[in-house]
Amino acid sequence: MTALPPLLEVRGLEKHYPIESGFLRRNAGAVRAVDDVSFTVAKGTTLGLVGESGCGKTTLGRCILRIVEPTKGSVLFRPEKEVVDLVELDDRAMRSMRCHLQMVFQDPYASLDPRMTVLDIVGEPLRENRLADGGDLQARVARVVEAVGLSTEHLKRYPHAFSGGQRQRIGIARALAPDPKLIVCDEAVSALDVSVQAQILNLMQDLQEAYGLTYLFIAHDLAVVEHIADQVAVMYAGQIVEMAATDELFRRPLHPYTEALLSAAPQPDPEVRVERIILSGEVADPSAHPPGCRFHPRCPYAQEICRTEAPAAAELAPGHAVSCHFADELELEGIQ
Ligand code: SF4
Repeated sequence: MTALPPLLEVRGLEKHYPIESGFLRRNAGAVRAVDDVSFTVAKGTTLGLVGESGCGKTTLGRCILRIVEPTKGSVLFRPEKEVVDLVELDDRAMRSMRCHLQMVFQDPYASLDPRMTVLDIVGEPLRENRLADGGDLQARVARVVEAVGLSTEHLKRYPHAFSGGQRQRIGIARALAPDPKLIVCDEAVSALDVSVQAQILNLMQDLQEAYGLTYLFIAHDLAVVEHIADQVAVMYAGQIVEMAATDELFRRPLHPYTEALLSAAPQPDPEVRVERIILSGEVADPSAHPPGCRFHPRCPYAQEICRTEAPAAAELAPGHAVSCHFADELELEGIQ
């Protein structure tokens, strides 16, 4: 089988926020929210990006879409045959690229304007990108609204008339309307009940197949990405510490942080028992990362070298990269 070309290739991406102090606003360091992150996502696939809150995953998603300006690095995007570096585009060129890049937000209550009807909300990216107007716009909106499981009778209603799951369907329809190539889903199901989460995840998989979509699916919960992601990248303190195909990562985690996240993920199968690893402390402060491995103050396997030397990323199995000094020695617990 020939490998699909990457739709998205992120290289050495960084987002540092300078910290200024004193009356003269002297530079007093930086909050390193995203720090030298690289990965690729093949067309038509889903990359799950997981980690605790504060690890930088939302900032990373926003840097890719240039909602937040990256400090350094490149975001190579291939919507057609040509590859473009989104970081290099001026405002005008970026505006014309926006229709290919959409986002679904976490909170379906806050992300929809309560004064707009469904027709206006879903039609907004079509109007803004000058992709359609009048009857053509209405027809396109009607098509995507039906594709997400709502009906054209809903078009004249306002967000308050819908349940949380239906509102998220409206958010997905809005993202889908301009016919994008990449959708960044930021905790897109976290605010929903578990049964509704499953419906939305199934819908997103169906839409991916029907429209050839590529997803970057950001979540704090590994159980959520297990169902939708082809690959998973685990993020800690602004960096990706492990990345692998989903099955491989769940069965054979190589980073102690991934093992801890897996042990905390809810298990639908009562037969599967995983001993929960309770991590002490909080995610490292992004303005003062610890020296050496950033995870060492919380890592149950840390040794002397971990306190002084940062581990380099290494590919220990095909497509399975990890940054840990002891990744090939530790026998970590996965989920079978
Ligand atoms: Fe733990 Fe050391 Fe590996 Fe970091 S490098 S994850 S501290 S064992």
